[in-house]
Amino acid sequence: MIEYKNGIHIKDLLFWLDAKKKTDFSFISHAHIDHVARHKEILATEETKALYEHRLGKVKAITLGYHIPKKVKGIKVELFPSGHILGSAQILLDLAGTRIVYTGDFKLRKSLTAKRGEIKKCDILIMESTFGLPRYVFPPAEEIYYRIIDFVEKALNQRKVPVILAYSLGKAQESIKLLGDKGFRLSLHGTVYNLVKIYEEFGVKFKNYEKYHPENLKGKVLITPPWTRNHKMVQELPHKRIAFLTGWGMDNGAKYSFRADEVFPLSDHADFKELLEYAKESNPEKIYVVHGFKEFVEHLKKLGFDAEELNEGTRFDKNFNKEILVNYDLFR
Ligand SMILES: [Zn+2]
Repeated sequence: MIEYKNGIHIKDLLFWLDAKKKTDFSFISHAHIDHVARHKEILATEETKALYEHRLGKVKAITLGYHIPKKVKGIKVELFPSGHILGSAQILLDLAGTRIVYTGDFKLRKSLTAKRGEIKKCDILIMESTFGLPRYVFPPAEEIYYRIIDFVEKALNQRKVPVILAYSLGKAQESIKLLGDKGFRLSLHGTVYNLVKIYEEFGVKFKNYEKYHPENLKGKVLITPPWTRNHKMVQELPHKRIAFLTGWGMDNGAKYSFRADEVFPLSDHADFKELLEYAKESNPEKIYVVHGFKEFVEHLKKLGFDAEELNEGTRFDKNFNKEILVNYDLFR
């Protein structure tokens, strides 16, 4: 019923889920670059459509809010929050009584700038598994927030510029919400700034920020995408402290591999515990796993699930090279 061909495809139907090549019609779970292509027509939330068009240009779209069941291309569908970034959605498809859920990227923990992710009961679950190894259980959000704030305060007290490296869509807005609301003054890289403006159009409010200007960084926190780490903007700052926000910060030695003074495990993905919680609560007869470690399928099998991976040729093994992932993430 489900196959993988450069995107998830419901067999015999013109219905793709996060297809990575051009199709006539694809559901787009969220606007991260690894989930989108220029399709003839998409199904997405209004927020995702706006972010998609900001990055890829105008598109013909069927837009749908959360929790509104609707027949789309002859199939009963419903979107519901995935807690990943603004507008990110999971989809429930009802195929003659068989309930299929595709999670897209998700998390179940609270987010500061996205609706909290939900779990639905289903017969077939297609789930992401980015952090599907037991060593990836994140500390409580409050503890991570505290560590980021402490890092920023200490750097400012030493008259250094705190530089927060955060993916421009999602992680950057989380850190702006966290730090701006605490009263820190923020300087935002242009890409981040433009995306903040779209978040604001959809009612997410931010404080104490301005667009980056090199002459105007004194006493401010610089929030910028990871790829700027090697650019003049960051390289030539004389007095700085660099923090990278990523779930891979759970790994030993993360600060060395990411060449940062600190790495904080702030993630917009589910951790290992949340992945298992999702599988147990949705209680499907079949689980297909995408995006992640091969070993996660074995964990699911041990728990009694009929699980298999949807092969996409880009799986990680336990010791995969994070540098590759960082480079891949630079385009987000
Ligand atoms: Zn994503």
